[in-house]
Amino acid sequence: RKAPNDLNAFWMPFTANRQFKKNPRMFVAAKDMHYTTSDGRQVLDGTAGLWCCNAGHCRPKITEAIQKQAAELDYAPAFQMGHPVAFELANRIIDIAPKGIEHVFYTNSGSESVETALKLAIAYHRAKGQASRTRLIGRERGYHGVNFGGISVGGIVNNRRHFGSLLSGVDHLPHTHLPDQNRWSKGQPEHGANLADDLERLVALHGAETIAAVIVEPVAGSTGVILPPKGYLERLRAITKKHGILLIFDEVITGFGRLGAPFAAQYFDVLPDMMTTAKGLTNGVIPMGAVLTTADVHDAFMDGPEHMIELFHGYTYSGNPIASAAGIATLETYREEGLFERAAEIAPYWQEALHSLRDSRHVIDVRNMGLIGAVELDPIAGEPTKRAFSAFLAAYDKNILIRTTGDIIAMSPPLMISRAQIDTLIGTLADVLAKLE
Ligand code: PMP
Repeated sequence: RKAPNDLNAFWMPFTANRQFKKNPRMFVAAKDMHYTTSDGRQVLDGTAGLWCCNAGHCRPKITEAIQKQAAELDYAPAFQMGHPVAFELANRIIDIAPKGIEHVFYTNSGSESVETALKLAIAYHRAKGQASRTRLIGRERGYHGVNFGGISVGGIVNNRRHFGSLLSGVDHLPHTHLPDQNRWSKGQPEHGANLADDLERLVALHGAETIAAVIVEPVAGSTGVILPPKGYLERLRAITKKHGILLIFDEVITGFGRLGAPFAAQYFDVLPDMMTTAKGLTNGVIPMGAVLTTADVHDAFMDGPEHMIELFHGYTYSGNPIASAAGIATLETYREEGLFERAAEIAPYWQEALHSLRDSRHVIDVRNMGLIGAVELDPIAGEPTKRAFSAFLAAYDKNILIRTTGDIIAMSPPLMISRAQIDTLIGTLADVLAKLE
């Protein structure tokens, strides 16, 4: 099926196709909370790029660190050699990680972090003499990137059904969105914690001795901001622990301050065995990801040279010096400007502003947590996505950047957003919704 012209923007990352070039929406510069468009307008960034520029745009400290590192040590082999910048960054990540998370495996993106964590989970059990534990469990409506492991455990049927044999032995827990009961929830919904109990059903079906890991986004972002009901993540942790199954939090979106804590693991006070990260690690500026693990997971994988050789894993660009330098400068910016605390402080204002859209035309639900928010629209019958995409276009014309997924408008502004900018973002969106067909 051919994409209609105005949807070309969606395919840009894949093809940079010529049609789009003829009728482009292009950004040519950025500073702090704003993008500059090719026609010279200032657009307020309501999405932190793609949920990644948590410290805002073109921050001098990060730019300078990249320039300095590029001039000093551009690359060092990722195997057999090392360099101090990657170690420095790893220490700083662990400094802000939840207690109990002690090690860093570098990757270059969120998708690679997911693949790495899934492999680590299987390797972990093998090292513990449980090679039969290879099954993986994801969740419906989960998003874990676009590589084969990620689409296998991911819960978007359309993303995986055309790609033949994926990972075998994968199941999906039910997603946690109970629209009838959880609509308009401010923060965590009250209902649905028992959906985690479906894991017990899968354990009974397959046997705990076959299951390696469960992977979930603490807050599902890309599929429309789906919040975990109260007690849900705690229940998942208890069940996985009971059966010796590893729990992986995909924190590619929730990591680095999005919820007002360094990671969702701290926000919810639930400690997983691994956390996948990317995006905000380098403020979106340079591709980099990291899997953060407990000592137990790390040691099982790393113990003994035979083990390492048999389970070979690692990327050419893992812990690249320039990306590492960007990561250090990013974490310094978060700390110096108190951006995680700032996000926590402004979150109630964000919540009230978002919920003021409740009575806007076509709005059927509003959800929020930390500095994430979603406004769900009533879809046009037979034309899903059309209404929200019209809102995106109208918003862009009025100089605000929002993101749509299906008929859901998702927002995740840089953590430096001010009250006045929240007013502009939500006020403009209210105007757009009022005029929407
Ligand atoms: N996991 C989650 C939770 C994500 O939101 C994303 C990207 N939106 C990914 C993985 C994939 O990250 P990347 O696009 O960097 O490969």
